[in-house]
Amino acid sequence: MTHRILILGGTTEARQLAAKLALRNDLAITISLAGRTIHPVAHSVPVRVGGFGGVDGLARYLRENAVELLIDATHPFAARISANAVAAAPMAGVGHITLRRAEWKAVDGDLWIEVDNVEDAAFALGDKPLNVFLALGRQELAPFEACPQHSYLIRSVDPVEPPLNVPNASYILGRGPFSADADEAMLDSANINVIVAKNSGGDATYGKLVAARALGIPVILVQRSVQQETQIASTVDEAVTMVDHWLKAAEKRGV
Ligand code: NAP
Repeated sequence: MTHRILILGGTTEARQLAAKLALRNDLAITISLAGRTIHPVAHSVPVRVGGFGGVDGLARYLRENAVELLIDATHPFAARISANAVAAAPMAGVGHITLRRAEWKAVDGDLWIEVDNVEDAAFALGDKPLNVFLALGRQELAPFEACPQHSYLIRSVDPVEPPLNVPNASYILGRGPFSADADEAMLDSANINVIVAKNSGGDATYGKLVAARALGIPVILVQRSVQQETQIASTVDEAVTMVDHWLKAAEKRGV
């Protein structure tokens, strides 16, 4: 018997989990992307793209496609889709697992200023003009237009269109992983005074925090919002184990 699994993706972990589960012939995996990235990375399983239309739309999709297990492997800052998953899975009567990488924790030498959201991060920069490295999504940059005294260096996967409405902004395109050495050279050559980033966790974008530590640069770090969730795996392997447990339980129920 083949069990249908929908993975809410948009992360490296979602892709890795899909690739692992796709090797098994008792599972049919589909991955869902929001459609934010112009050229998404290739996946080894079928991909569907675009929003579902809120909680009801997601629950409908799960029912209509006979999905049995929903795995939320979205980014830790994708709070809305995760909340939708929490509500839609019981509505559709499907299992629900969350794969969420652990937060980064400060170590000796880190100069972190923790804030709750991007608006507070912009405010925390203060009045004095600074050279700021913004490592945020391109849809999250608007609050910095209220702080035109700073010079911004912005790294994003796709171009920031329209550009930020401030006198001094420059742009780098790049998709992680980024090495600590390369980030250190980049921050040093741009004479960066402060970094603004999100506490995303994982290895791919941790390099900038290692580089900041080495250069003694403070980091304004946006914290995750508290999310309601069911069973949480923090690694791909843990998620595979949870899928195995779910399968065993499903077999016992005779599904
Ligand atoms: P969000 O604010 O939580 O979600 C906004 C809306 O986008 C959702 O209500 C849903 O629309 C749609 N959506 C989000 N993820 C989806 C998915 N995987 N498949 C189908 N629809 C999805 O999400 P976000 O922060 O904009 O992130 C969007 C995507 O980018 C996610 O897949 C996430 O994993 C990825 N991503 C986000 C970040 C980040 O920092 N936020 C970083 C890297 C990657 P409907 O309500 O219409 O279903």
